[in-house]
Amino acid sequence: MSTSTEAGSSFRRWLRRPAIVPLARIFVVLVCVSLVATDGWLILKAREVQLREAEIETSNLASALARQASDSLKKADTVLLDLVERLQVDGMSPQQLQRLQGLMRQHVYEQAELHGLFAYDRNGNWVVNSFGEVPPGANNSDREYFVFHRQHPDDHDAHVGLPVRSRTTGEWIIPLSRRLEDAQGNFAGVALATVSIDYFRQFYATFDVREHGAINLALNDGTLLVRSPFREDLIGSSIARGKIFTHLLPHSPTGTALLPSVIDGVERLFSYRQIQGYPLVVITALAEEDILADWRADTHRQLFVVSLLALLLALFGFYLLRLIKEGQRIEVELVATRDALRSFNKRLEQQALEDELTRLANRRRFMHALQDEHSRAARSRKPLALVMFDVDYFKQYNDIYGHSAGDECLRTVADLIRGGQKRPADLAARYGGEEFCLLLPETDAQGALLVAEQIRMALEDLALPHAGSPGRRLSLSAGVNVCLPQPTLASGIESLVQGADKALYAAKASGRDRVVLYDGKVDELIG
Ligand code: GH3
Ligand code: MG
Ligand code: MG
Repeated sequence: MSTSTEAGSSFRRWLRRPAIVPLARIFVVLVCVSLVATDGWLILKAREVQLREAEIETSNLASALARQASDSLKKADTVLLDLVERLQVDGMSPQQLQRLQGLMRQHVYEQAELHGLFAYDRNGNWVVNSFGEVPPGANNSDREYFVFHRQHPDDHDAHVGLPVRSRTTGEWIIPLSRRLEDAQGNFAGVALATVSIDYFRQFYATFDVREHGAINLALNDGTLLVRSPFREDLIGSSIARGKIFTHLLPHSPTGTALLPSVIDGVERLFSYRQIQGYPLVVITALAEEDILADWRADTHRQLFVVSLLALLLALFGFYLLRLIKEGQRIEVELVATRDALRSFNKRLEQQALEDELTRLANRRRFMHALQDEHSRAARSRKPLALVMFDVDYFKQYNDIYGHSAGDECLRTVADLIRGGQKRPADLAARYGGEEFCLLLPETDAQGALLVAEQIRMALEDLALPHAGSPGRRLSLSAGVNVCLPQPTLASGIESLVQGADKALYAAKASGRDRVVLYDGKVDELIG
């Protein structure tokens, strides 16, 4: 219990320290700022996480689609290789071509990605195709892939050509072709497998890339083959100026980057992957807007709540600060009031015990001191002396010099009597009017007479003019009485004062300006 009280009071003392207000203000600001800063940091971290997850998502999708594209082309290429083999080895006799046509139709029927299979002679004339019919006068020597194989005798690999619209069906297709040679290695024509762009379009459409995402299949030179969401006008267009083709793909077969799209300018997170074995690249993209949609909504809510919290915290903190400041102000006022009261009380005490005119002890204080010293003297069996003074012819002094001069004169006499206090216990007092007394504990008659005489002589030395006095100067008379107080004698004080008074009377009666000791002769004199 006492420990908690001590703790409470030391806390209150701590609160009263002047430095507490600026410290508390800094503390409140720091708490609010760190709350907002921590929340800001968490928000940025959450954004990073969202982008990282989207990066993994687009990268995985690119990887899977690259695999799918590679497999599709490989299947078409396998069929193409078989076709090349048969045309080169088995020849192009009408029976052979008829058999081959049936086989080609079968392949196209079985493989969804295959749109058609074709063979052209060295002049570009149609030799055989999976559709069975050869349009009259049909010639493909103008096609890019045909020109390519005719001009590249050493290239026996599969060639992926620019997307074209099929002359047979009107569909958009990707041409996959190989060179045909005769026994001497001369150019003998081209075998072609056409891969359906629609097949990829439908496949890509099964993936959710959110509202503004995209999937692209392009040639290494930036020619766009397929785009999902599908836009026919983009087939065969170039996206080569995009950063993926200019900066990233030349250095790495896979990668991810946040870029503006060259097609529509939308900021997207792109993941690209080079398709193994073919000059193709798959690019998957999620729009930054979609990736961060949830994060943005969460951030707005979070910022609102945290700002509100910080505001409430700041308001509460500053309210507490105001209370502390108010408390400190009241404390200062209370201390000031207490000090004022103390000094006022002290003044009152002084006024109660001090004479206003002369600043000597007043009669009340003198009576208390007399009682105390009388008791002490009775216990210690030491003498107690009392001297009573009265200014001579003072009435005349007032009449001649005025009351103010009389007051000034009383102050001078009081100072002389104050000088008679030789020891700490000695006490000079104004007894009333122009009467003073001096209490001298542990002082015998001889000592008291000496002190009284010194005071009288000091006034004589001052030689203050008094035209109403026979000696023409101001003088005083003094009566001295000494007693050896008895503890049992209650009237000791009274008789001490009466004795001194009588001695004073005797001094007046015997001519004034003198000191008289109270003894039997005094009684006789004033009898
Ligand atoms: P004596 O020699 O017999 O003492 O004659 P006295 O004229 O002094 O007679 P008394 O002691 O009776 O006179 C006291 C006078 O002191 C009366 C009063 O006018 C004057 N007195 C008393 N108190 C004050 C005071 O505070 N100021 C002034 N100026 N005069 C005072
Ligand atoms: Mg008098
Ligand atoms: Mg007098």
